[in-house]
Amino acid sequence: MLSTMQRRPLTVTTLLHHGATVHGRSEAVTWTEGGARRLTYAGTVARATRLAAALRGLGIDGDQRVATLMWNNQEHLEAYLAVPAMGAVLHPLNLRLPRGQLCHIARHADDRIVLVDESLLPLLTPLLPELPGIRHVIVVGGAQPPEPLPGVATHMYEELLREAPEKFDWPDPDEDSAAAMCYTSGTTGDPQGVVYSHRSVFLHSMQVCMPDALSLDDSVRALAVVPMFHAMAWGLPYAALMSGASLLLPGPHLQAAPLAEFIAAERPGTAAAVPTVWGSLLAHLDAYGGDVSSLQEVLVGGAACPSALMTGFEERHGVRVIAAWGMTETSPLGTVARAPHHAGDPGDALRYRSTAGRPPAAVELRLTNENGDVLPHDGATVGELEVRGPWITGSYHLTGAPEKFRDGWLRTGDLGTITPDGFVTLTDRAKDVIKSGGEWISSVDLENHLTAHPAVREAAVIGVPDERWDERPLAVIVWAEHTQHSGASAGFADLRTHLSDRVARWQLPERWTTLKTLPMTSVGKLDKKELRRRYAAGELD
Ligand code: ADP
Repeated sequence: MLSTMQRRPLTVTTLLHHGATVHGRSEAVTWTEGGARRLTYAGTVARATRLAAALRGLGIDGDQRVATLMWNNQEHLEAYLAVPAMGAVLHPLNLRLPRGQLCHIARHADDRIVLVDESLLPLLTPLLPELPGIRHVIVVGGAQPPEPLPGVATHMYEELLREAPEKFDWPDPDEDSAAAMCYTSGTTGDPQGVVYSHRSVFLHSMQVCMPDALSLDDSVRALAVVPMFHAMAWGLPYAALMSGASLLLPGPHLQAAPLAEFIAAERPGTAAAVPTVWGSLLAHLDAYGGDVSSLQEVLVGGAACPSALMTGFEERHGVRVIAAWGMTETSPLGTVARAPHHAGDPGDALRYRSTAGRPPAAVELRLTNENGDVLPHDGATVGELEVRGPWITGSYHLTGAPEKFRDGWLRTGDLGTITPDGFVTLTDRAKDVIKSGGEWISSVDLENHLTAHPAVREAAVIGVPDERWDERPLAVIVWAEHTQHSGASAGFADLRTHLSDRVARWQLPERWTTLKTLPMTSVGKLDKKELRRRYAAGELD
């Protein structure tokens, strides 16, 4: 028997109308050197409407890709709304990628128009000769029209908007059609394209708003430090329009000092970023102080959350750290680590919160071994995490990559355990786990213990070739500032002793080295591929 329910599509277009009306008074706030720039959602959608009309005038009349090369700011939010809602496909480009990769991705996605922040024109301009598909460049910000660019028509964003009609006949897109696309950040391999549908964006936004995720409503001010090119800023922009939460956008001001200033001035209640961002903000707050009293919690995802980060924020600054796991392929929300209601004392709650969390109802997880056998969720058996659900990708753009899927499940490449009540603990990425004499050593576990030592600011552990054991761990240490300055380095021997109380003897690294800073990927994750390359090239001793 069929239901009697109406079949209305779930679309970004609906979100845009909802945000403009029901939450028309909520605001987007962009941080600039001169202070905050703010506009209501009603105003934002009015500008997005003009943008859609302008893009139509430039020939966007179907599912062409409209790329952005932009920081998190007001205009980027306008593009986030206008492009999918008009039936085209938004493609935020990662401005930190090497030029070759950026070119490859823009060509692979078949980008036709690029919206670019004026400050990023020097990055885009030299690439244009290699991107014949791009017909128009729209420059955001900047008072003067730029020099004409080779092979493309150049426009000024504000001028386009001024001249565009203020009405646009929004379509009613098919909910399964493409709304946006993002490429993976390529931490372990080449970037791959993931294409989100209107339906997946809508359902994912609903989940982001839920109390067991970010708990957004129109009283919340949410700071998206995570770039809008990194897995769609983890869904925050669309969830903000859906819930009426105001959205705080830091522009290019991502260093700890301006971030602390932004937080003190605009008083977000929640915020999202990768651990390295929170790590440097914590170091800044510890050293110089700052008012983060508005922050009830911060969401940490994209990489394992060091326990020292969690305790540091909570004990010294009263900010609860919530860990979450996800991937570009999972929109990205996969699991969130909130303690269940039945958790006992704070220690018990912290044990739950120190995992990668549990999935929402729409996300199914399982573990498999290398033969594809499904493993038990007993909290002890380690396997590869596989995932499926309505906002999980079922293939990759153009390449398909069937080896990344098994019976309709996405193989994540992450290793871990799952408890009977769904809490996931990630032990490592399959490509990072250290295979020593037939046993696995979790690099994440060693790093977590090392960063808990007061003399250590950051630590990375990679597997390096070893004649006897195949691989052994190499620990790369960045000493905490006070350790360097006082000259009272704990020394590797002390760190070994510290570790020997916490992990099995055979897991203790014999190889140690130190760096001033660790290499980071384009989205601020520890770049172990680069560390392995340096080791192989003899650049790490
Ligand atoms: P890339 O795989 O190129 O880094 P993504 O940004 O999509 O691109 O990253 C997804 C990966 O990030 C996951 O597969 C996982 O390895 C890692 N990750 C995300 N969240 C967590 C977490 N909470 N703990 C550990 N690893 C995480």
